[in-house]
Amino acid sequence: MTVDEIINLFNEVFKMPFSYLFSANKRVYWLYLVTSFILAFYVYKRTKVKGSFFNYVFNLKTWLGKSALVDYAFIFFNGLVKVIVIAPFLFLALYLTKNINEFLVSSFGVIQYDFSVITIVVSYTLIIVVVDDFASFLIHYLMHKIPLLWEFHKIHHSATALNPFTQYRIHPIELIINNLRGLVVKGVITGVFLYLANGQVSLLTFFGINIFNFLFFFWGANLRHSHVKLKYFNFLEYIIISPYQHQIHHSNNPKLYDTNMGSRLAIWDWLFGTLVLSESVKKLRFGLGGEEDKKYKTFLQNLISPFTNIIKKK
Ligand SMILES: [Zn+2]
Ligand SMILES: [Zn+2]
Repeated sequence: MTVDEIINLFNEVFKMPFSYLFSANKRVYWLYLVTSFILAFYVYKRTKVKGSFFNYVFNLKTWLGKSALVDYAFIFFNGLVKVIVIAPFLFLALYLTKNINEFLVSSFGVIQYDFSVITIVVSYTLIIVVVDDFASFLIHYLMHKIPLLWEFHKIHHSATALNPFTQYRIHPIELIINNLRGLVVKGVITGVFLYLANGQVSLLTFFGINIFNFLFFFWGANLRHSHVKLKYFNFLEYIIISPYQHQIHHSNNPKLYDTNMGSRLAIWDWLFGTLVLSESVKKLRFGLGGEEDKKYKTFLQNLISPFTNIIKKK
């Protein structure tokens, strides 16, 4: 690698997190941040929080505290991991799509029945969201239940203050696993739908992204990582995870560990017996709890601890 290439690489990585603010398929896209502020204002008014709205939303600990600085460090570091480790595997989705489609054609022949374009597009768009959501839940569940994976996932839970950028505070190993999950789900489902649709399938999009993802992002997804207690009606919290339910997931209270592991849908937690409704939790503190938080204060501690802990336990 030449010096110029290294400079270009770092330039690309440095600019990447800022580009998220202008990309509709990222949760921190400016429009979704604006709608989150509006929803935060609604919660502020409804719950009669003391002090000004500005202080409620922009308190220093949330945005510039030690925990937040670790979040920001991970955004940049994971940008480097994306370019160097993950980018070369992006072909995987296309590879799976092509091979699964060819396998289905060779096994069952060209499909005879004709679905309407709208049926194919809507079901493809919905199924890809639901299956990816279940896959996310399953991987998240395993990360909490398997000690080796928990060592890596702990980094997301070592945040003692939550802001929208905390969603990017994940260990590079988890980042790689999550990206592989997305590629496999997308590749397999697109392959099956290409077969069902005789070679032509597309997503139902809005702002250039899957419409269901748009709705999820638009409706305050950024408040999941925040102290803004946006709750839904009880019946709805059995179906969709509210921002406060994800905040419960970040609780440092051992009684609430391993709960609300769903990404968008709550039904998986409901089925696995790990669902907790907002109304049952009044007070929350974020983090790992006890002495553990002290071991995960800096970026390097968060990056290296999973490896040293695994070696120590062997
Ligand atoms: Zn978790
Ligand atoms: Zn989280």
